[in-house]
Amino acid sequence: MELCELAPSYVRAIAPYPPGKPIAELAREMGLAEDEIVKLASNENPLGASPRVLAAIENAFMELARYPDGNGFELKQALAAKHGVALGQIVLGNGSNDVLELAARAWLAPGTSAVYSQHAFAVYPLATRAAGARGIEVPARDYGHDLAAMLAAIDASTRIVFIANPNNPTGTLLAAAELEAFLDKVPSRVLVVLDEAYYEYLPEALRSASEAWLERFPNLLLTRTFSKAYGLAGLRVGYGLAGEDVVGLLNRVRQPFNVNSLAQAAALAALADTAFLDRVLEINAAGLEQLESGLKRLGVDFIPSRGNFLCCRVGNATAMYQNLLKKGVIVRPVGNYGMPEFLRVSVGLESENEQFLRALEQGLEELK
Ligand SMILES: *Cc1c(COP(=O)(O)O)cnc(C)c1O
Repeated sequence: MELCELAPSYVRAIAPYPPGKPIAELAREMGLAEDEIVKLASNENPLGASPRVLAAIENAFMELARYPDGNGFELKQALAAKHGVALGQIVLGNGSNDVLELAARAWLAPGTSAVYSQHAFAVYPLATRAAGARGIEVPARDYGHDLAAMLAAIDASTRIVFIANPNNPTGTLLAAAELEAFLDKVPSRVLVVLDEAYYEYLPEALRSASEAWLERFPNLLLTRTFSKAYGLAGLRVGYGLAGEDVVGLLNRVRQPFNVNSLAQAAALAALADTAFLDRVLEINAAGLEQLESGLKRLGVDFIPSRGNFLCCRVGNATAMYQNLLKKGVIVRPVGNYGMPEFLRVSVGLESENEQFLRALEQGLEELK
């Protein structure tokens, strides 16, 4: 038998994650200048990282020959203070994606299953399949999670339920009371991974006090990231919050130095720069409004979003995606999420949103 055929069939069957197209790649393909291109494809922060973060990274350069702190002591201290949890309740990840994978590696194996929603974040089925477990995909309700159906889908083999709140790519949000009632009913032997990658974007009134649930639900794992609102996607740093037993198990399957030293220094500085975060949230709220009113003007349907992105229904999304690429606008087709008529556009700066809306207007005309 050939080498690659000897890999487990569940690994060979995995379809790779399709990332957003990089600016440099489109520039090469279309012969465009990089500065003519707008990338609104990966929910990245249009403001970049804060100047205080950049200064912290520069300071950390001198220590590059040393291994990072494998325990992430300083960063965990800051996170513990922010969230009112103990150091032992925090696990750091190479992006929050890493924490999702750690949970899958710790709990899933052939013969077990994970429950997640249709149109939910693509990493849940990926991590599930990579562990050889069975994915139970529950039909969505109005593009969001149907918690009653998800509860009913849990069976004796289920080890993890993944929930994204807000969800990517649909931007839908579950109310705190609904989630709390769900947590009350999930069997305590099932880990609930509540992925809150876009938590910071939520107005105060819509936020779940999810940290407070950790005490009552030892089977709850919250994940957060520095990739989105904090603007550090390229550095790869995120974290999970859970009871000490769950964190202890995640740490057993974690690479000892999974979060690099620049990322740790940057995340620490990012937490301290609340003025920058406020600006990010302001610009995102204004940008969402701009996109919504622009789409309404064009007569394009969209799913109201609580994140830093929006899904709009453009008919043949593959054709529109290609059309927009020619105009130097990169968005994300979401056919792989079972939404072949939609494009997901990330909220950019005012001028970038405008460039997208103009390109879309032209595209709609050209593809009539
Ligand atoms: C972006 C995203 C993440 C993870 O991003 P990291 O960069 O790995 O922290 C996790 N969940 C959802 C729903 C996301 O959209």
